[in-house]
Amino acid sequence: MRSVVILGSTGSIGVQAMDVISRHEEKFCVTGLSAGGGNISVLAQQIAAVRPARVALPSEEAAAKLRAALTGFNISTPMILVGPQASAELAGIDADVVLNAITGYAGLEPTLAALKAGSTLALANKESLVVGGKLVTQAASPGQIVPVDSEHSAFAQALRSGREEEVKRLILTASGGPFRGRTRDQLRDVTVADALAHPTWNMGRVVTINSSTLVNKGLELIEAALLFSVPWDKIQVVVHPGSIVHSMVEFVDGSTIAQCSPPDMRLPIALGLSWPDRLDNIGEPCDWSAPRTWTFEPLDATTFPAVELARKAGELGQYVPTVFNAANEVCVDAFCESSLGFLGIVDTVSAVVDRYISDHHSLSQDTAMTLEGIREADAWARACVVETMERTQ
Ligand code: NDP
Repeated sequence: MRSVVILGSTGSIGVQAMDVISRHEEKFCVTGLSAGGGNISVLAQQIAAVRPARVALPSEEAAAKLRAALTGFNISTPMILVGPQASAELAGIDADVVLNAITGYAGLEPTLAALKAGSTLALANKESLVVGGKLVTQAASPGQIVPVDSEHSAFAQALRSGREEEVKRLILTASGGPFRGRTRDQLRDVTVADALAHPTWNMGRVVTINSSTLVNKGLELIEAALLFSVPWDKIQVVVHPGSIVHSMVEFVDGSTIAQCSPPDMRLPIALGLSWPDRLDNIGEPCDWSAPRTWTFEPLDATTFPAVELARKAGELGQYVPTVFNAANEVCVDAFCESSLGFLGIVDTVSAVVDRYISDHHSLSQDTAMTLEGIREADAWARACVVETMERTQ
């Protein structure tokens, strides 16, 4: 039986992970849960269902709400870790698998804590890898990070088909998001509701907005390069609107191995929890009895420049991806609060990344990254977005 800690248990990935575990109770024991405090009743129900020893919440206010919610259940209250570091503290306590399903930069320290504790890190929180770069990859032993992102799970599955030196290219598929096929002009006035209407995936707010700008694909490009140590020019992004082929690996002999399944995150979540083994009764397979067509098309990099911007940030490395992510997090919030237009998201991220690059001439891949350096770059980028928005309004 594997002991599992789920960080971000009340979100889209967290809830689906709980579902996977409920189908295989003989294989997993949930020892810890963490959340942001926005969905206390869901967290209380999860606690009643799996009785974890520990729960982590970022504030005393959230902890008080949880204690009150738990009085409705006839169970003893688990130990509640409280404070901004609570998820990292929980991740650092011995567990076989830590699933990091927190959104955004807040996932960085929990990722580092899980790696330091020697747990397998089932990683949905791609942002922690992107912002932490080599600090994260160097903290991980080989195979310690198991990707949960569907594309990277597809790579991991397809890479089982050949040796490292036989890999020619990674082909990262993108649904294209809700605005595929539109011109830049047609995106000027799109609303938050338009951006949240993803055609194939039902996900949390930030990752859904990131999918509409293609920033998510940019983050995934950096994630792929870091996870699989593949050179930048060997990762190609291709648009596949159906989200059935989750990504592909091309080998030197011309063979391409694709991983296919209807869009359902429970499949990569289950693999993340049980890697390298597969679990039964997880997702529906493709139905081959009916005629069907899968389409692929090149990415429109003029309308959606985020992927090439991420490639530039990733190639420069060091803290440039940290800046890319931080600027995007602030811009997404601003867009959701209607203080920034849709096109302003990537335009502002681009301006902030460019300013960081021109202000930091001595970017060197050889200098070791530090947590302090990441915090500084993250804070710099957040302040720079605010300044840039004030200047352009
Ligand atoms: P959600 O917004 O649905 O959930 C985020 C979770 O993180 C919630 O449980 C939230 O708690 C918790 N949380 C937020 N801030 C904190 C904090 N400071 N400390 C502890 N917990 C916190 O996001 P998703 O599940 O959609 O995405 C999670 C991660 O997985 C992201 O990195 C995303 O990019 C990635 N991912 C998601 C996919 C999906 O299908 N959803 C697909 C591939 C990757 P609360 O509920 O209390 O706010």
